[in-house]
Amino acid sequence: MRLFDTHAHLDFPQFNGDRNLVLSAMKEHGIFALNVGVDLPTSQASLALSASHPHIYAACGIHPHEAKSVTPDTLAALEELLQKGAVAVGECGLDFYRDLSPRDQQVWVFRAQLRLAKKLDLPVIVHERAAWPECLQVLREEGPVRAVLHAFSGDLARAQEALALGLYLGIGGPLTYPKNEPLREALRKVPPQRVLLETDCPYLPPQPFRGQRNDPLKLRHVAETLAGLWRRPLPEVAEITYANAQRFLGVQG
Ligand SMILES: [Zn+2]
Repeated sequence: MRLFDTHAHLDFPQFNGDRNLVLSAMKEHGIFALNVGVDLPTSQASLALSASHPHIYAACGIHPHEAKSVTPDTLAALEELLQKGAVAVGECGLDFYRDLSPRDQQVWVFRAQLRLAKKLDLPVIVHERAAWPECLQVLREEGPVRAVLHAFSGDLARAQEALALGLYLGIGGPLTYPKNEPLREALRKVPPQRVLLETDCPYLPPQPFRGQRNDPLKLRHVAETLAGLWRRPLPEVAEITYANAQRFLGVQG
């Protein structure tokens, strides 16, 4: 059985003690991952991980929290990194919950990255928090783009809005949280071909591991929850979502 974690931060310091162990356990269990940058240094780290591990792919991008310090030079440097073997742009988007960058700057940096993605023909990993209408509006105006709403946690109405725009839904640990019944209800009804599995590790561990560090080996718990919702066997859910990730990222393997 293969699984594809489409959103991991294995370069983060939380993995400094056992990164190689995690990477080899993933290989042993058939778990592939897209490692996602949040700024220039982590984008570089994603490329380095991907270059030395055949089961790791790289995304390069600037997180909305970091948008405040972005200049045209930053975007030029990002474009250069993207051309060194990245398979996606991100993560990028809008975060009006923590508001760590001015909102108009967040929008400008998001738009710039969507344009880079179109120019380089790459899919986009989108971070959206407390900015739903604004985020969809930007995607509509800059589209069509191939994009996933990472850590999607909306209800069926939001899922349908996203699907109508051609977006994929990135589904992780929150699917297993008791309070997220509307999310589970949505997942029962969305087309399986538009669902990508992700951990967002070291964050958002599945329910049995709340409070602990998340890692790609725990993705199985999300796949199991999804298998229950879809009433399909786990290996079939693994294969569908793996094929979705390959198609979305344009990778073979
Ligand atoms: Zn992330």
